[in-house]
Amino acid sequence: MREFKLLIDGKLVSGAARLDVINPATEEVLAEAPRADRAQLDEAVATAKTAFPAWSAKPVRERGALLVRLADALEARKDEFAQLLTQEQGKPLSEAHWEIGFTVGIIRYHATLDLPFEVLKDDATRKIVRQHTPLGVVAAIVPWNFPMLLLVIKVAPALLAGDTLVAKPAPTTPLTTLLFGEVCREILPAGVFNVIVDQNDLGDALSSHVDVAKVTFTGSTATGKKVMGSVTGTLKRLTLELGGNDAAIVLDDVDPIEVAPKVFGAAMMNAGQICLGAKRIYVHDSQYDQICDELGRLARESVVDDGLKQGTQMGPLQNKAQFEKVKGFLEDARRNGKIVAGGEVLNRKGYFIRPTIVRDIPDDARLVREEQFGPVVPVLRYSDVDDAIARANDSEYGLGGTVWAKDLDRAFRVAARIDSGIVWINTFLDVSPDVSFGAAKQSGIGTQLGPEGLEEFTQIKIITIAK
Ligand code: NAD
Repeated sequence: MREFKLLIDGKLVSGAARLDVINPATEEVLAEAPRADRAQLDEAVATAKTAFPAWSAKPVRERGALLVRLADALEARKDEFAQLLTQEQGKPLSEAHWEIGFTVGIIRYHATLDLPFEVLKDDATRKIVRQHTPLGVVAAIVPWNFPMLLLVIKVAPALLAGDTLVAKPAPTTPLTTLLFGEVCREILPAGVFNVIVDQNDLGDALSSHVDVAKVTFTGSTATGKKVMGSVTGTLKRLTLELGGNDAAIVLDDVDPIEVAPKVFGAAMMNAGQICLGAKRIYVHDSQYDQICDELGRLARESVVDDGLKQGTQMGPLQNKAQFEKVKGFLEDARRNGKIVAGGEVLNRKGYFIRPTIVRDIPDDARLVREEQFGPVVPVLRYSDVDDAIARANDSEYGLGGTVWAKDLDRAFRVAARIDSGIVWINTFLDVSPDVSFGAAKQSGIGTQLGPEGLEEFTQIKIITIAK
């Protein structure tokens, strides 16, 4: 079994304890991960603080050049990363390759960015200049559904901006982050990037740490609220990307046969464990039966298996707790709706649930109101598009959403009325490293990616010179 170590102060170190990492496709121990204790957390933060002055003083182009080397090193080992990602997370190998490829793209994009002084005014009496200064130590806290992508979306801008980091992956998917730590160790100065692993017990200590200047967190809305509470002591900067319950609105001019596989993909990618996934599908009365049948057929035909096996289209749920939670949603679906396809767990080892399509379920069912984060998806009927939009917006979440239509102008008018941070028309997960996005309502605070995402890792400073 391969050995994994924490990265603290440029050294690979054992944890104070160990924790088993389970392969969700087999329920067997994949590897042991080092588990940090409070003293190691404090050491990681202290070392990041010590590394900050020299790192932040480097010219931005030098930091960018190191990011290019990091992207190259990650790309050179992409097969190894993708394999490990599938084994710890469960997603099919093709999706793991997509995640690693996108991760490399995020690093390469940030390597090109700059933070120049901007002259805002320059007249006879004064000159006003805007500067972006780095913040200090950043805590990057990551969930288990996209362990690499959601790590690097934080790490790349923080490093470019001149911040140093302590990263904490989710306890069920720490291995790719630890491997990434090994790669960073070869390239970055000691202490600039540190990795600790916990068993869901150090998050609060990290986010409330007096020497942490900013917390960037992706995870559930419930935990995000706790994080928000924990940063108040020192008024830390905060970015939150939280849960969602995104609606897919299918307009009545679509070709059901053509649109069904696309909507199905938007709902079932990563076994539904995707923050921006389609979690409620609204279909017009006139096409409701046909689209439900078509989604049902796609669900029945899906190949659900170990992500490492060729041909697998859907892997297991990532961990036992999530598996149990989604089984609860299946119960709700059975009680309140009609299951078109799926509805059962696989009779084998692993946290497998067949893709499940549920119809004729009321709007107040748990499966419609809450974030299921699994491959169990309700299809809801509407007859008036205003009503569909109102129901889509009737949620405390506001992360993303999709609209599916032939008439693009009409689709745009619908998209413009959805209360969320992202809406895709006739496409899904088309995210670009140079385009910033954020979330509405209780799905988050702040922006990620693009120039605005980078700015969140800096302090804006205005310098005014009297002439
Ligand atoms: P989670 O909130 O349980 O855990 C996320 C991370 O927070 C983990 O690393 C965990 O160890 C840590 N944590 C736990 N308690 C903490 C505390 N008190 N203080 C600080 N950190 C703490 O989320 P999860 O179950 O790992 O992930 C699933 C959730 O993440 C879903 O709700 C999903 O929608 C959301 N998510 C959102 C996005 C997005 O970009 N908006 C992306 C992916 C996932």
